[in-house]
Amino acid sequence: MMIDKDQVWQSLEQVKDPEIPVLSVVDLGVVRAVDIKLKGLEITITPTYSGCPAMKEIEFDIIKTLSEDFNTNINVHTVLSPAWTTEWLTESGRKKLLDYGISPPAQESNDKSQLFQKPRNVICPVCKSYNTEMKSQFGSTACKSLFQCLDCKEPFDYFKCH
Ligand SMILES: [Zn+2]
Repeated sequence: MMIDKDQVWQSLEQVKDPEIPVLSVVDLGVVRAVDIKLKGLEITITPTYSGCPAMKEIEFDIIKTLSEDFNTNINVHTVLSPAWTTEWLTESGRKKLLDYGISPPAQESNDKSQLFQKPRNVICPVCKSYNTEMKSQFGSTACKSLFQCLDCKEPFDYFKCH
């Protein structure tokens, strides 16, 4: 079986986060490894948080997309440790989020307690001001908080999943 790992990673770029369709699973950093085995492809993923409802859908999409592209058996293997952190979001993923109108996670903290505190350095995706405040811990999905910019007054989602 002649499969190039780079082709598999490229193919995985087509698999998008169901909640944020501009982000691929590669941008999100949920794909931990691609292994080419005798019996097919083995993809290792780590959920953005345990119990994330989107993960089943992501797993299904990975199998569907790779089966079509490579015509082989696809095995998706989930590992929970080490836990996913927003640090795994790629630079291009952060940029895509901001362009999409969602503020990417503030980079300085890996601290789980931040989930329940007001994150610092939250950038407004509209005017790029840091003069923002949290309106609600929960935004349109569990992975987001609702913020408002104090300069341009726009409300926006902040991606907070750890
Ligand atoms: Zn603003």
